[in-house]
Amino acid sequence: MDILYRSTRSNAAPITASKAILQGLSPDGGLFVPETMPVFDKPFSELAEMSYQELAYEVMSKFFTDFTEEELRTCIENAYDSKFDTEKIAPLVKKDGVYFLELFHGRTIAFKDMALSILPHFITMAAKKNGVKNNILILTATSGDTGKAAMAGFADVPGTKIMVFFPDGGVSNIQRLQMVTQRGENTCVVAIHGNFDDAQTAVKKIFNDPQMAADLAANGYQFSSANSINIGRLVPQIVYYVYAYCTLLKEGEIREGDKINITVPTGNFGNILAAYYGKLMGLPVGKLICASNDNKVLFDFFRTGEYDRKRKFILTSSPSMDILISSNLERLIYRICGNDPEKNRALMESLAGNGSYTITDEMRRELSDFYAGYASEEENFAGIRELYEKTGYVIDTHTGIGNAVYRRYREETGDTTPTVIASTASPFKFAGSVMRAIAPQELPGKNDFELIDTLAKLSGTKEPYAITDIRTAPVRHKTVVDAEEMPGTVRSFLGI
Ligand SMILES: *Cc1c(COP(=O)(O)O)cnc(C)c1O
Repeated sequence: MDILYRSTRSNAAPITASKAILQGLSPDGGLFVPETMPVFDKPFSELAEMSYQELAYEVMSKFFTDFTEEELRTCIENAYDSKFDTEKIAPLVKKDGVYFLELFHGRTIAFKDMALSILPHFITMAAKKNGVKNNILILTATSGDTGKAAMAGFADVPGTKIMVFFPDGGVSNIQRLQMVTQRGENTCVVAIHGNFDDAQTAVKKIFNDPQMAADLAANGYQFSSANSINIGRLVPQIVYYVYAYCTLLKEGEIREGDKINITVPTGNFGNILAAYYGKLMGLPVGKLICASNDNKVLFDFFRTGEYDRKRKFILTSSPSMDILISSNLERLIYRICGNDPEKNRALMESLAGNGSYTITDEMRRELSDFYAGYASEEENFAGIRELYEKTGYVIDTHTGIGNAVYRRYREETGDTTPTVIASTASPFKFAGSVMRAIAPQELPGKNDFELIDTLAKLSGTKEPYAITDIRTAPVRHKTVVDAEEMPGTVRSFLGI
């Protein structure tokens, strides 16, 4: 069966997967969603025998039906190869009674690699399939991890250029260094005065500016997006939740049909939405535990039914989750209002105009798959430290939010269902904060790289190559602009 994609904001004719991947965002500002949700047609005991790559094909072929088998397998093989430092791609580690799904074994040591290793292949393949002659310009706003992972994926890919905007002062020092040292003639990194939401809003505006699109086209370019609004990013993220389930099955931790809970430290609601899509496809999932940091707009939404972004933006030690406008929530809203684009659009317009919207009680009843919680900095740090002292295992400050919220959930509900926590970054990427949690006495007088050395010793693990690389790499990108100047920056990068 062919799966087509429609916008969450209008009744415009649905389009093929490859077109949806190319466009990123619908021209009406909506997000592309599959018209029908595919379901698994093989037992999990059979899926459990597959490699990560085979399972990826199983999932992706159900969504991207206009790609041939050979095209999809080529994309998969080029993505999930020795760029990852383990053949398992996404290993599952049991510590203190929970399963950490390590999604940080790719090139930039955060979970964004899971999707951004394959997205460039999807996009260039989709361009070829659709006879697109233009060069593709990837425009991306990042809260720290997407930007680097996207550039690592797109650097020197023929027919593409990539621009990344990040909030100046709003990312960790390691994240910043990873970005500003990016190689590749087709890459451009720009810091902006403002926070992530400012960057994301400006990027969306540039995307939807018809004059900009016309000028690009006249010069042989067109936009695409590497942000998690792109369906080509969402679908690869479903794979590892299925893989986690299969791993548990294979290792005898659960039996076929048993449910698991999945906890996801959340920002833009992309990673947890992928788990939800997995559940809709038939993955036996009990609760989806949505974990927020002090920017707890999602926690409040699930509790009250009101999404309200009118609040102070708080910089935390889990910067990749410092977000007040969770773009991917729109896909969930669309679904719980009965796949009604008019209703969804009215809510999104209210968010853009008034900074908030409230869903109906009927819609709220559709949210029972989710449990939402949040953790303060103190709870996060205490949880990381406790886990380390108990087991010697070190998690990063984003995973720490998932860990803290999950512990609270289990206390509150007594639910002992086997639980997978998405481990979204290597602790080395946030070594300063992680060290503050596990050994604060080591901090005084040490710079980031010295803290990394200490972390390697304490955790008994080797520094990943992504860190070694930035110790000496020269800074190549130094531009800082206001959000209003972003369109001009795009034009000057392209020379138009
Ligand atoms: C992006 C990111 C998150 C949040 O993921 P979303 O899909 O935006 O919810 C969590 N942790 C890390 C390390 C990230 O890079």
